[in-house]
Amino acid sequence: MQDYIKQLNEAQREAVLQKDGPMIVIAGAGSGKTRVLTYRIAYLMSEGVDSFNILALTFTNKAAREMKNRISKIVGPEAKNLWMGTFHSVFAKILRFEGDKLGFPSNFTIYDSNDSQQLMRSIIKEKNLDKDIYKYKQIQSRISSFKNSLITVKAYHQNPELKEADAMAKRPRLGEIYQEYVDRCFKSGAMDFDDLLLRTNELLTRFPEVLAKYQQKFKYILVDEYQDTNHSQYLIVRALSDRFQNICVVGDDAQSIYAFRGANINNILNFQKDYSDVKSYRLEQNYRSTKNIVDAANSIIEKNKTKLDKVVWTENLEGSKIHVNRLVNDAEEGRFVANSVTEKRMQEGAKNGEFAVLYRTNAQSRSIEDALRRKDIPYRIYGGLSFYQRKEVKDILAYLRLIVNPKDEESLKRVINYPSRGIGQTTIDKLTLAANHYKRTIFEIIENINKLDLTINKGTQTKLVNFVNMIKSFKVQNDSLNAFQITEIVSKKTGLLQEFKKDGTPEGIARIENIEELLNGISDFVEGQKELVNAEGSLTEFLEDIALATSLDKETADEDRVALMTIHLAKGLEFPYVYIVGLEEDLFPSAMSMSTRSELEEERRLFYVALTRAEKEAYLTYVLSRYRWGKLIDAEPSRFIEEIDEKYLDYMIPKDDYRYKPLIDKDIFDEVDKSKLRQTKPENGTPPPSHKPTEQQLKRLRKIKPEGDSTPTQKAKPMQLDVGQMVEHTRFGKGEVLNMEGVGMDKKAAIKFENGGVKNLILKFAKLKVI
Ligand code: ATP
Ligand code: MG
Repeated sequence: MQDYIKQLNEAQREAVLQKDGPMIVIAGAGSGKTRVLTYRIAYLMSEGVDSFNILALTFTNKAAREMKNRISKIVGPEAKNLWMGTFHSVFAKILRFEGDKLGFPSNFTIYDSNDSQQLMRSIIKEKNLDKDIYKYKQIQSRISSFKNSLITVKAYHQNPELKEADAMAKRPRLGEIYQEYVDRCFKSGAMDFDDLLLRTNELLTRFPEVLAKYQQKFKYILVDEYQDTNHSQYLIVRALSDRFQNICVVGDDAQSIYAFRGANINNILNFQKDYSDVKSYRLEQNYRSTKNIVDAANSIIEKNKTKLDKVVWTENLEGSKIHVNRLVNDAEEGRFVANSVTEKRMQEGAKNGEFAVLYRTNAQSRSIEDALRRKDIPYRIYGGLSFYQRKEVKDILAYLRLIVNPKDEESLKRVINYPSRGIGQTTIDKLTLAANHYKRTIFEIIENINKLDLTINKGTQTKLVNFVNMIKSFKVQNDSLNAFQITEIVSKKTGLLQEFKKDGTPEGIARIENIEELLNGISDFVEGQKELVNAEGSLTEFLEDIALATSLDKETADEDRVALMTIHLAKGLEFPYVYIVGLEEDLFPSAMSMSTRSELEEERRLFYVALTRAEKEAYLTYVLSRYRWGKLIDAEPSRFIEEIDEKYLDYMIPKDDYRYKPLIDKDIFDEVDKSKLRQTKPENGTPPPSHKPTEQQLKRLRKIKPEGDSTPTQKAKPMQLDVGQMVEHTRFGKGEVLNMEGVGMDKKAAIKFENGGVKNLILKFAKLKVI
């Protein structure tokens, strides 16, 4: 038997070794579903299945990359040919080949949710609709849900119920907006995220020969996290697997947490009906967590009425109980986490990367960040405003997108006058009108501007033509360059870099740092493409990669940081130490998801997901008062804490008191093991308030509430360095100074780093520490 097969238990092995036919693995968290999928692919290849004929769909592109790496350790470089990735990235690739059949160019732009919202906003404005009734974010999400259920504009108009619902909501023109949105995307050669699935479905339905081709290609299909597929994804998988029926899906109904985005749990429940002769496997042994964590998680999920019966057990050690901690407010909660991380690092030699802090909403990260920063604990936030959403990064990306696809109107409008070229809004409005009138793109209108009478003066016409010529010249250069090289040229030639440099404020400097970071990222990408998938690292490849990168995908391996993320993002991951913070009623479970049993059950599954990420220890925290919507409110502990069987919990104070009494009350203090309280004391040694905060304390708390953006931009001072000195960089690790040049603020150093080779860094921006 091959070595890797030996690393599986009996049930896992059976699932891996079933080569053909439809199969499903439904099993609890940490039972090795993802491992089965990975090893199965290796096994299929060892059985002679061509790597080109295997398609694996994962929850993040990062998961796909990790799987590929693991498989390549078993089967070698053949793994490069596997088709692996998220639904969106795999089908975007197919649409690049086949999209022309639907009238899309192969270089179509992918609009992220921000782009779609902006387009929606312009449409609502152009139609003079009341923006308080036609809220663009709501409209965008409604249209998105139509698309995920395959309700096209035509289907919408034929469905009186949907129309009536919108009429009732005082939005009778929703159908019209939907139509306009679809037309505008089409004209711009753009697809939004939902289109990638919708258009794939259209392609496979309208063109039987295309369907046949991909059915033939993907003889073996595997899907991870199947419980969170939506209708559109379900139909694609069904269609593609219809011919050979070699389909393997793995999932856990108890971890279905995306119903709010259209995920349909019935996909997993009905699998047996959709295919004939389905083999079904159950994995019951958990390898991830301690016995206490496994049992506590089981006791939680039992409370759900809608579920499949499952057994999860483990041979792992009992482990410590789940710690429940009550804190006064979010600042103290942050401090508790930071202190506890420090303590674990000291006592158990734990690394930063072994900790995760999980929360229900992105906004909760701020107080945790503040506390970690104060203690100099490196961390990384996943999700939230992603790097690629920052203004300066989007500006450069808009140029890059325009080079690849000059039809892309959202990008064109963003940069046609940025940096300023004296092209005003009136001119842009005239161009938009003309483009709509002639059914052409703005780019084409400018190309023909001297033949049209648009009442735009000659001076402005020249500026417009210069802009278009600049983009065209980039396009020509791009043909022989990789993504990194063209981006360097674009950032200089467009004047963007100078624009940011002119601005000497800390924000301006942070912007340049971000551009530098973007260039680093692109350079990594180009290298990665060569190594992992035999590709050249072109601009088109790069744009597609970032458009579809999920927030989890940007992690680089060399970083040892505490991970901060929402529970939704944590699915499928594991960490030795997990903090689940903000366990309060109305926050988790969320006030917005408590009106029906099924919503509440989804929140409970979310809690189950959170708890089952932990390998060794889990901490649950809640506070007495928290700022919500700008107000300090009294908080109540989450019902989920009470739902865990008490025997698995370790309360910081006796359970009977935990709801009503303050954390460190005199009489309680005497009853409790004081060592347990140690970690919650503030760093300066003053004991926390001994009762619920008084009005005066509340006022003080309000005052010290830090405001505004708290992104961790470290402003390094320019430093004096010598050749031969050793330094440390937050990203590249340790390095040696090889050479110095320049003077004063322009001083540069060439440094050879452990991770990343030689880099030339401008000292005033570089995040360096002398070691
Ligand atoms: P989730 O539901 O959270 O996605 P999962 O069922 O996909 O979990 P995996 O991530 O595949 O579980 O496995 C959980 C952990 O257990 C991983 O660290 C994995 O390497 C380990 N593991 C799985 N099977 C075995 C085994 N037979 N022997 C040893 N370790 C195993
Ligand atoms: Mg998994």
